[in-house]
Order: sequence, then C-alpha cells, then structure tokens
Amino acid sequence: MLTQPYSRSYVRALYDRPLLQLIDDARDVHRRHHADNEVQLCTLLSVKTGGCPEDCSYCPQSSKYDTSVEPEKMLDVDGVLKSAERARELGATRFCMGAAWREVKDGPAFDRVIEMVRGVKALGLEACVTLGMLNDAQAQKLKAAGLDAYNHNLDTSRENYKSIIRTRTFDDRLRTLDSVRNAGITVCSGGIIGMGESIDDRCEMLRTLANMTPPPESVPINALVPVPGTPLESAKPVEPFELVRMIAVARILMPKTRVRLSAGRAEMSREAQALCMLAGANSLFYGEKLLTTPNPSGDEDTALLRDMGLTVEAPAAYSPPVAAASVERHSPPAAAGSLTEAYSA
Ligand code: SF4
Repeated sequence: MLTQPYSRSYVRALYDRPLLQLIDDARDVHRRHHADNEVQLCTLLSVKTGGCPEDCSYCPQSSKYDTSVEPEKMLDVDGVLKSAERARELGATRFCMGAAWREVKDGPAFDRVIEMVRGVKALGLEACVTLGMLNDAQAQKLKAAGLDAYNHNLDTSRENYKSIIRTRTFDDRLRTLDSVRNAGITVCSGGIIGMGESIDDRCEMLRTLANMTPPPESVPINALVPVPGTPLESAKPVEPFELVRMIAVARILMPKTRVRLSAGRAEMSREAQALCMLAGANSLFYGEKLLTTPNPSGDEDTALLRDMGLTVEAPAAYSPPVAAASVERHSPPAAAGSLTEAYSA
C-alpha cells in the first residue's frame, strides 16, 4: 500500500487508460471497500435560494447573472423537517441543506440552520450542509449540533479556478475545508466537469482531493448543467464517457470514499448512469431538483435501480459517517507508468 501523494503523471496515466481496463480496476477497488450493488440515496434541499454575491460562472443563484432564479426568503425549520421526513420515507439516508451564501454569518439565519441540523439528526438521517465559507468557531457550532458532513466543492483545479470564480480563491476553499476537518465533521468535496477545463484540470482536481490527509469521505462528481443567463450557458454538453472516467479515477484514488453521481443526470441516458455506477459511483441524489437544477424523477430512479438490481442503503444500516483515520492510497496499475515516473512529478 502506497502512502506517498499521488503525482500528476500517475493520475493522468490512470485517466487515459483504455476505458474497460479503467472500469475493471475501479470495480475491483470498489468491491474491496464497499457493499456491491448498494447505493445511498441523498436528498438536497435549497433552504435559502438565490441572491448570492459570489460569481461562480455555472450558478444560476449568483446575483451577478440574469437568470430565472429569483432570491427567496430562507425556509423555516418546520418546512425543512417535513421535507427531510418525506425524503426519509422515500429511502434517503442523507439529507443535505444548501444556502446560497458567500459565507456563514453569525446570527439568526445561522441559528436557524443549527436548528435544522438538530431536527434532521433527530430523524435518524445523516445531516450535511453547504453554506459557503466558514470559520473554526462556526464549524465547531455545527459539529455540536450533530452535523455529519459539510459540502464545499473545489469545483476545478487550482490553475483553472480563476477562470470560473473571481470573488474568492482556491485557498479560501481549502481553508474552509480545514476548519471543517478540524472540527471533526466529515468532508464532502468534489467538482464539476464541462466548464471548459482541460483533462489535466480534471485530473488535478481529483489529485488535490485524493492527496488530502485524509481524503474527503464524500466526493460528488457533477456534469455541468448549462443554465441560461450564466456565463457558461453555451457550454458544450459533457460526453458521458468523460464522466465515467472521472468517477472511475475518483474511485481508484479514494477507495473508501463515497463517490456521488450528482448534477447532470437529467441529461444522461439510463445506460450512461449505469456505467457510472459500474465505475464506482455509490450514491445518487434523489428528488426532482438539485438546489435549482432539474434531476430525474423519483419514478425514473426507482425504475433504474430496479432494472440494475441495485439495493438502496437501508435506514436500518444507517450509522453516522466517521472521519477517516488513515490514508489508504491505491497502488498504480502497471500500465499507468513506472512507480519512479509516477511519483516524480
Ligand atoms: S455556487 Fe454557491 S457560492 Fe457560488 S454563486 Fe452559487 S450559491 Fe453562490
């Protein structure tokens, strides 16, 4: 078992492997670390939509862009908990709440999120929030409320970051993830493909995540959903095989992580989604919306899971995720280049 950080050349060589070999390896890693044929269903609810001061080029909730998403008031705790209950009835074991904020500010809105976290935990669900940047004290407050996971995506590589977002830096991102980790909350962090980045940018994003000590317990891989009014409204659709490659590489680099097939599923065929799961994705976001973008309907997902013979992680099997104590890295397959070359970049 290797403990050195993954090199650029190793990750790129892995990404470029013949697709079936890559999937084979990912499948092998997956079977050794996860229940085969089982997926976790998560539901993501926007608890404060729109009006965000950040300028993420892909996001219809940014106030900088003229999109159909209008700023809304924050949801109340009871309404959110009713949605969480409903998600649990439909089979979700993780409930994520998102607020379109640049950063967490202490005060009534944050206190309301704390109440939501407590309520979601009382329902026996994993609780995750995505609230923008936060500091150590805020992370500790969320931890004390029982929060299991904090989502804060890297989105893309360090090199490409400025072409997507100008109102904060890649290092701001990493600082928030440090606060989350230091508070003992598990990390959910991934990215988006299809924003004009190079293959090397994609590999770099995965390499940054995989070289964290420990790596994130949860990595969502999203395909861009181009939204009219955003700078990326005319982006070229993502080729499904590219998403499959990203998932397979994530699975191999981060064996124990839950890899989540996230935004972009509504545009994908059932067969492409099945290939993503074959390549190591073991979680789906369930529900007709992912914050503000469309997602397949519950009926379509039920049919997909049934036809693939997949089982849904049962609520009875629920146990809160535990922050990874050790780093386990995958040995490079021979075809990915020699070890000397792989670890020299
Ligand atoms: S992705 Fe998040 S931080 Fe960026 S504009 Fe949208 S809501 Fe704001």
